[in-house]
Amino acid sequence: MEELLELYNTMGISPGVYNYGEETLKKLQSRFADIDRIAEHNQAKVIAAMQKNHVSAACFAATTGYGYDDVGRDNLEKVYADVFHTEAALVRPQITCGTHALTVALSANLLPGDELLSPVGLPYDTLQEVIGIRESPCSLKEYGVSYRQVDLLSDGTFDFDGICKAINEKTKLVTIQRSKGYATRPSFSVKQIGELIAFVKSIKSDIICMVDNCYGEFVETIEPSDVGADMVVGSLIKNPGGGLAPIGGYICGTNACIQRCAYRLSAPGLGQEVGANLGLMPALYQGFFLAPTVVAGAEKGAIFAANLYEPLGFKCVPNATESRHDIIQAVELGSEEGMIAFCKGIQAAAPVDSFATPLPWDMPGYNDKVIMAAGAFVQGSSIELSADGPIRPPYAVYFQGGLTWYHAKLGILMSLQKMVDAGLVTL
Ligand SMILES: *Cc1c(COP(=O)(O)O)cnc(C)c1O
Repeated sequence: MEELLELYNTMGISPGVYNYGEETLKKLQSRFADIDRIAEHNQAKVIAAMQKNHVSAACFAATTGYGYDDVGRDNLEKVYADVFHTEAALVRPQITCGTHALTVALSANLLPGDELLSPVGLPYDTLQEVIGIRESPCSLKEYGVSYRQVDLLSDGTFDFDGICKAINEKTKLVTIQRSKGYATRPSFSVKQIGELIAFVKSIKSDIICMVDNCYGEFVETIEPSDVGADMVVGSLIKNPGGGLAPIGGYICGTNACIQRCAYRLSAPGLGQEVGANLGLMPALYQGFFLAPTVVAGAEKGAIFAANLYEPLGFKCVPNATESRHDIIQAVELGSEEGMIAFCKGIQAAAPVDSFATPLPWDMPGYNDKVIMAAGAFVQGSSIELSADGPIRPPYAVYFQGGLTWYHAKLGILMSLQKMVDAGLVTL
């Protein structure tokens, strides 16, 4: 280990920080072993789906133009459907991001006069304009789709009474966000999501249950589609892209829902038949193949960070010992200086743009200044190690990702080093 310490030392990590990290890691062996077992399960699930669908070199060929009979694209969708245990899937570069995938899923399956219900409180920021919670041209609200919301109870659990009262003859689709995103509520386990779906369907059996699965894929051995979700939706520049997908989103679900999604994404009548793959198939297949281990590495990083920072007096959400349902870790640093130091460390440990210095900045759509650290191969990719947060109490940074556990570890050690260097922490 001496040699590694020396190498880390040349990169700016002091023996004190390194040794504190090693002490912390000793306590995490059994949790890491659990994560490895989940990753092994999910790896086998992905390989089995690729074998069943005869993935071959022919699937990696680029297509252009309309993309009729695109074997690679059609087969990738079968692979996704098999991994998520759904009848069908829509997975392609024409879905530009997670928000786009969610927009397609919602607007394809809600018609004027229908009502959308969120039984888990306010949805992720970008969806608020999609729904019309914040006014926007082309929102669902503008098209005559109404919206109702039931907040979580103060302990973060579902308000079953409130949900029961909110469901009415117009309720067509229920949207359930698995990850807390940038809110302070807990993230939900797949089991909890299953209970919520069963409850909703017991009140009105034909409600479509959609799960925003962003940041949750492969954290457990089952997905929301295994517990009754009609659609699961996410981004390929998060977990399932494995860091290699340069763009894309997915929707997996029932034939009925996915066909409508395909008609909405391209055009009625065209559906899944058009959409050239533009040479991206190798990245989308290989990224999905790597995703289970990438997610495992990111999750280890999140747990390492919580266990490194919590004993030093910083509140962590989830805390050091809680079970995990996504890859996001919030650390409350208590001051602007703390957020800057933390983000500087994440940036300095990156393989790309390590020489840049993150600073708080005014961003469109935010009331407070925001700081962001990211040195990513794919712009904005948050499955790569990244940290950000609004400069306001409790001065929390949200960090996530890491394509490898070792990079996540280095970034977190470097963040602590910058805190120590700034005199904000004494070990
Ligand atoms: C990231 C995220 C989205 C939106 O995904 P983008 O790819 O950034 O558009 C939606 N919901 C949740 C919970 C997310 O974390």
